Amino acid sequence: MNSKFVLIGSGLAGGLLAAYLGRREYNVVLYERRADPREGNTVSGRSINLAISTRGIHALEQIGIADEALRHAIPMRGRMIHDKSGELHFTPYDVDPKKCINSIGRAALNTTVIEAAQRYPNVRVHFNQKCTDIDLDHAVAHFETANAPAAARGDVVIGVDGAFSVVRKSMQMQIDGFEYDESYLAHGYKELTIPPGADGSWQMEKNALHIWPRKSFMMIALPNPDGSFTCTLFWEFEGPRSFATTKTDDNVRRFFNEEFPDAVPLMPTLLEDFRQNPTGSLVTIRCAPWYYRDKVCLVGDAAHAVVPFYGQGMNAAFEDCVVLDECLEKFPDNRERAFAEYFERRKENADALADLAIGNFIEMRDKTASRTFRAKKKLDHFLEATLRGIYLPLYTMVTFTRIPYATAARRARLPDWIIYASLLSLSILLIALLLFRLIAD
Ligand SMILES: Cc1cc2nc3c(=O)[nH]c(=O)nc-3n(C[C@H](O)[C@H](O)[C@H](O)COP(=O)(O)OP(=O)(O)OC[C@H]3O[C@@H](n4cnc5c(N)ncnc54)[C@H](O)[C@@H]3O)c2cc1C
Repeated sequence: MNSKFVLIGSGLAGGLLAAYLGRREYNVVLYERRADPREGNTVSGRSINLAISTRGIHALEQIGIADEALRHAIPMRGRMIHDKSGELHFTPYDVDPKKCINSIGRAALNTTVIEAAQRYPNVRVHFNQKCTDIDLDHAVAHFETANAPAAARGDVVIGVDGAFSVVRKSMQMQIDGFEYDESYLAHGYKELTIPPGADGSWQMEKNALHIWPRKSFMMIALPNPDGSFTCTLFWEFEGPRSFATTKTDDNVRRFFNEEFPDAVPLMPTLLEDFRQNPTGSLVTIRCAPWYYRDKVCLVGDAAHAVVPFYGQGMNAAFEDCVVLDECLEKFPDNRERAFAEYFERRKENADALADLAIGNFIEMRDKTASRTFRAKKKLDHFLEATLRGIYLPLYTMVTFTRIPYATAARRARLPDWIIYASLLSLSILLIALLLFRLIAD
């Protein structure tokens, strides 16, 4: 009989992994604490839309649902920087205008992956089932349900239950020497809205990720298919100017008028949104190992939550699903080896991504505002075009390739000036050689 996989959490990675495991003909049962997203359950406190790029799209393609998932996605071709005077500067993400990141609705994507999983008759999904703990040795999950405590026994339990995973918590409590580290940024985030214009269209450039960089904090906005934008303010929790000190409508209005004057007229519900929407925290979680014998395994944010500034958390979680699937294929009769290889292949990459994501916060909130940043991006694009296959900027490697994150980070570690000096010399040499040949001909 095929093994029974009990999955805890039907978020983005849970739904996709269930589809992959369903295709491999395992017996899959997915338990989700929330109500069915198709019944209008909104995922409160999480980003409404996200950026999906090459790694995430590849994972969807492998299971045949990329077109369906991306049907309503909006391509974002570059960063649109809003300075304090309202002046706009656009920097493309890549020298190739076809390379873009895509704004996609979390709820729609979640529904797509769950429905993809449910197409396999060997996959079942149960909503409103909150897991409370796992008995690791027996692969049993316990639930708190409305009526009575319940339990589900599998051959294996997979924790796809996000950054505050109870599966991981059970591993922490039951595995000697389990390594765990969590660190919070001093910044929190709050989502706000720019609604569609009177004619239903987007009130700012639709095909861009908008950034209002303000050195120690920033606001960003991603487009939605209904003509609106979801804005996210990333700001200090504490301090003289912070979420803590900006409570009254007057304070909020003053802060926005000073910092984001061009956005304020587009945000008629700013004060209500600010009051009503929760302030989320930003956590990085690292742990090891991600598995226990052949019984339990962690995937996605449960194994490695990262801050959102590289737009890669979900992309990395989807990449986990691809790698775990490959490992299960490689060791069909030895699940523990499959889990061990999955952990080995993913751990250093998840750690590298965690560092890259924190680094990119500084780049987005501070450096994107400068002329030097824009000049550096132009130089990057020139070098990438001239030295095709030799030079790839870090952002391109992370976002538009499937080069492992740790390899990308290592390649980009040389100081910028050494890279630029050598590459410029090489480009000049190449151009000179080309001219020489043309003249000689
Ligand atoms: C503000 C913000 C912006 C982001 N932007 C991007 C972006 O642009 N691009 C990108 O790639 N990533 C982004 N991310 C990261 C992305 O949201 C996560 O990496 C992704 O959601 C991880 O998927 P997951 O399935 O592992 O976890 P989740 O999506 O968190 O899903 C976990 C699921 O488990 C369920 N669950 C939890 N506990 C239990 C329990 N006890 N019992 C049963 N079910 C349970 C939850 O209800 C949920 O459905 C962003 C994150 C934030 C906070």
